Amino acid sequence: MSLSINDSVSTLSGVGDKRVEALADLGIHTIMDLLTHYPFRYEDLTVKSIEDIEENEKVVLEGPAISEGVVTHFGRRKNRLTFRMNCEHVIVSVVFFNQPYLKNQIEAGKEIQVFGRWDSVRKQLNGIKLLSSNQEGQDREAIYPSNKYIKQGTILKLIRQAWDIYASYIPENIPKDWIEKYSILSLKDTIYYMHFPKNEEELEKAKYSVVFREFFIYQLRLGWMKKQAKLFQKGASIDYDVNQLKDFFASLPYELTSAQKRVVNEVCRDLKSPYQMFRLLQGDVGSGKTVVAASAMLAAKSAGKQSALMAPTEILASQHKKSLDEMFKDTPITIELLTGSTKKKERDAILLGLQTGSIDGVVGTHALIQEDVEFNSLALVITDEQHRFGVNQRKTLREKGLNPDVLFMTATPIPRTLSITAYGEMDVSVIDEMPKGRKPVSTYWIRPKHFDRMAAFVEKELAKGHQTYVISPLIEESEMMDLENATALYQTYQELLGSRYTVGLLHGKMHPTEKEEIMSRFEANEIQVLISTTVIEVGVNVPNATLMVIHDADRFGLAQLHQLRGRVGRGSQESYCILIANPKGEKGAERMKILTETTDGFVLSQKDLEMRGQGDLFGRKQSGIPEFKIADIVEDFPILETAREAAGSLLNQKTFFTSEEYTLLREEVGIEKGQVLILD
Ligand code: ADP
Ligand code: MG
Repeated sequence: MSLSINDSVSTLSGVGDKRVEALADLGIHTIMDLLTHYPFRYEDLTVKSIEDIEENEKVVLEGPAISEGVVTHFGRRKNRLTFRMNCEHVIVSVVFFNQPYLKNQIEAGKEIQVFGRWDSVRKQLNGIKLLSSNQEGQDREAIYPSNKYIKQGTILKLIRQAWDIYASYIPENIPKDWIEKYSILSLKDTIYYMHFPKNEEELEKAKYSVVFREFFIYQLRLGWMKKQAKLFQKGASIDYDVNQLKDFFASLPYELTSAQKRVVNEVCRDLKSPYQMFRLLQGDVGSGKTVVAASAMLAAKSAGKQSALMAPTEILASQHKKSLDEMFKDTPITIELLTGSTKKKERDAILLGLQTGSIDGVVGTHALIQEDVEFNSLALVITDEQHRFGVNQRKTLREKGLNPDVLFMTATPIPRTLSITAYGEMDVSVIDEMPKGRKPVSTYWIRPKHFDRMAAFVEKELAKGHQTYVISPLIEESEMMDLENATALYQTYQELLGSRYTVGLLHGKMHPTEKEEIMSRFEANEIQVLISTTVIEVGVNVPNATLMVIHDADRFGLAQLHQLRGRVGRGSQESYCILIANPKGEKGAERMKILTETTDGFVLSQKDLEMRGQGDLFGRKQSGIPEFKIADIVEDFPILETAREAAGSLLNQKTFFTSEEYTLLREEVGIEKGQVLILD
């Protein structure tokens, strides 16, 4: 039997159905997924001197044991192993709980290394792990994202096993001369050193390589799409009727802001041009992107063309549908909603309507264009909060013989200095102005000990007939822990308010229809207090919700807090956001303070950029495009620039499209066979 890196993890020994499921929960299906399941931090295992360590610090101490190990039993099934060791002439006692079997490894006079937590008062090391001698030279240990069903140690063992069997099957998609030119490691070495670095230098090189690879592929994709947009110029020219647009704007209960007008003009210019539009619309939460999308859809309709609006979740899709219905109530355009839960009969009718052209536009989830949906004249695709600049999506569209104009909408503000590089290959429109009369959300930061006072404030808002969001802390390592936290908070609030108000719970592990139900009950004010993990983050619109409480707010990145806060302040009422946090250090406090001082997403993203530093674990990955496993466009910005240059120059080389050595890379980027010819 031949092995492949794409084999299922179930081929590994010790992986049965249960483990397959647990791994799948972490996004690990194949051997390659497992091997690229990288640690999110590393435990420092360098040997320390006693003078250099602080109370409660986790450290490795080394020295000869000066006694045998003694096991004492206490309580039911509890025991403690103790012995003493001599660390540079300081006698230290070492204690291991419930690991009696380690006794055999302790002999007086034998050199040992113990990883543990230091108790300076008792001069005692509370052992976590006895390091074996074959770990010598390895001065750090990888810590992996894990969940309740699979332990760190198991993940590491499986990675070891996968490495031993499959290392030689790891494909290299970047040709040698590029690897040399940009001083990265081969993919095989990258993987090895990410998991098993012997020293800081190896680790740094591996990290650099991962980040470079992620950015390189990303930039190649962006660049390729832009190139295609130029190649496939036959993208329809949408000859829209400007009067219909004017009527539409006149029918709205408000006037567009000047930023919205400018952006509508930019989009309309693209629609009219014979080039395929490839535009990113960036606008802060609440800046009014939906009406821009609506006007583009209407423009298409006025030219006899169809459009599709795609949202990342069913909740968002149905919210968009609702907003569009409201905006279009005096405008002759038929828009339908198509999602995974659309009933068969209705679905068939919609599909038929799209095929014949009796339906002008459709709102739905991503599946919308991937399934066997046929359009009569699809000329415009808008994606909302969809950060994957979907290669497959465009491929699918093209296979249907379609070259629609594409508009991406995002509410993730990224600093201007970054956006050119991050989105450089796309045209970018920015709505940098809020609708008039919008009151900024008053934001306060409190310490957890003032919870009771805060709860009184929540009651006061509820008594006014308003609703409240409560966001539970983010545990990056584990979705399972997210759930436990949210459930605990739910109980707290339920006890506090449950007799007078309805408290609801929303989390990522729920079935989509369940989520939908909770959300629509919240929208209908049948639920007044909604406890939620960050699944609430994007796009949700309940104007009667005037208060958001965020627990352990310091665990979130600035950008994400800003996104969350954008869920309130959507009506005409005064709105509030309360951050509960006990941040460590000055920087943490500074971050909380900035949020209380500004509600401008671009200002925040700029501050975020300035304040980021190494080791800011929870700040990672929250700055923008969550397409990367390790890379962070803010923190790793210089590498992003290098990768962009590299991608640009590769895309200009004809050999990239023709030569055998680039086959794997082309596949990764989504360049299909035969597309090469077009370039000639
Ligand atoms: P987002 O950019 O976050 O998607 P929305 O499109 O949902 O923002 O708009 C937020 C709210 O602002 C909606 O209730 C919308 O009706 C309203 N809105 C949009 N544009 C304007 C405007 N020019 N003046 C007043 N209200 C507006
Ligand atoms: Mg929106």
